[in-house]
Amino acid sequence: MKAELTNMKLDHLGIAVKSLEAGIRFYHDALGLEVGPVEEVSREKVRVAMLPLGETRVELLEATAPESTIAKFVKKRGEGLHHIAIKVPDLTAAIAKLQSSGARLVNPEPQIGAGGHRYVFVHPKDSCGVLLELVEK
Ligand code: ZN
Repeated sequence: MKAELTNMKLDHLGIAVKSLEAGIRFYHDALGLEVGPVEEVSREKVRVAMLPLGETRVELLEATAPESTIAKFVKKRGEGLHHIAIKVPDLTAAIAKLQSSGARLVNPEPQIGAGGHRYVFVHPKDSCGVLLELVEK
């Protein structure tokens, strides 16, 4: 199992924003990052813009409904870094390793997110206070 897990990389940094347009005005217009595809992930109730940054990306997340986890995050803590995402070659193996180490997942079953990739979130209590997304790529 170990060999399959050595090929991990930072995939993206997820930033919760009040407005995707305002976020793009800063990260694209002012900072100069390119804007990749903008997608709505209806199950998560978010609109997402991906801005490539070297080998990684900035993911701007805007809530599309008040019950969205992003809406709750912004209401409670304001805009800011919401999660970091690490890409793994084998999500099933990564989940097995995490669970055998006692780490909890927010949702035990992998979800399908932006770009059609499978992902899970590790509970921040088990990852030192950082919401950690694992994406299979
Ligand atoms: Zn993400």
